[in-house]
Amino acid sequence: MLITTLSGFAFAAGVVLTIALIRSILVIGFAFWVSLGTRFGKERRIYHVAYRDKQLMQEAKAGLLVLLFDATVIGASSQLGWLNPAPFHWLNALVTFVAVFCWIEIWFYVTHRLMHTKPLYWLHRQHHTAVITNPLTSLSFSLGERAVLLFGVLGVFLPLSNVVPVSQVGLIGYFSINYILNVAGHSNVEFFPPNWDRRWLGRALITPTYHSMHHARYRGHYGLFTQFLDRWFGTRFEDYEHAQTRAATGKPLTRPGERATGHEA
Ligand SMILES: [Zn+2]
Ligand SMILES: [Zn+2]
Repeated sequence: MLITTLSGFAFAAGVVLTIALIRSILVIGFAFWVSLGTRFGKERRIYHVAYRDKQLMQEAKAGLLVLLFDATVIGASSQLGWLNPAPFHWLNALVTFVAVFCWIEIWFYVTHRLMHTKPLYWLHRQHHTAVITNPLTSLSFSLGERAVLLFGVLGVFLPLSNVVPVSQVGLIGYFSINYILNVAGHSNVEFFPPNWDRRWLGRALITPTYHSMHHARYRGHYGLFTQFLDRWFGTRFEDYEHAQTRAATGKPLTRPGERATGHEA
């Protein structure tokens, strides 16, 4: 019985790890190509500053450990039958997607701010190996920080699936989009048009410039994909709009601490 369970777990973890590795190589490889190998990427660079010495190697090592950790946790929870998914219905998939999206915005903001306090920063230090981000930064976390994130997701939605209908499609859909936005947000390339912050969608969602400023300046811009909590708690940078427009018009910031004024030539 124990051997059957263990081999089932190893198989599930192996499948998850293989899919995650292939997906990471394709998505991160594509993002590196866009940021370093295309005219679009070069003309929309956010920070024109070199990476730290050995940064990419340190981030790649951390990323591999994270993928292994994710596969172990997801493989174990699938074997233990913690998720009790509801039968597929598009409306339920949509509701699950929106519920997970909103909850993770709150969970991420709160835990991210806590991890920027002195007693907890050790959990978050690995992610800030990147002062200037690159697509690999999207996977560069300590296992402690990854456990906090996974607990926020699995620790809430797996037990919840035994009480209310939770859609597996909604969960997978959210994490697929989360992954792509996470890689794009660390690409050091601004994809949105200049003055994006003046449009309603631009005021609601973050951009690659938004999160790059968090890495470069260390404090502020703690939000995951939306700006609401940063606005409400006063942690939004006032020069964000100018920095975003500079990146989108081929005038990257040239120092991590540089403030954008909007009057640059
Ligand atoms: Zn941070
Ligand atoms: Zn980041």
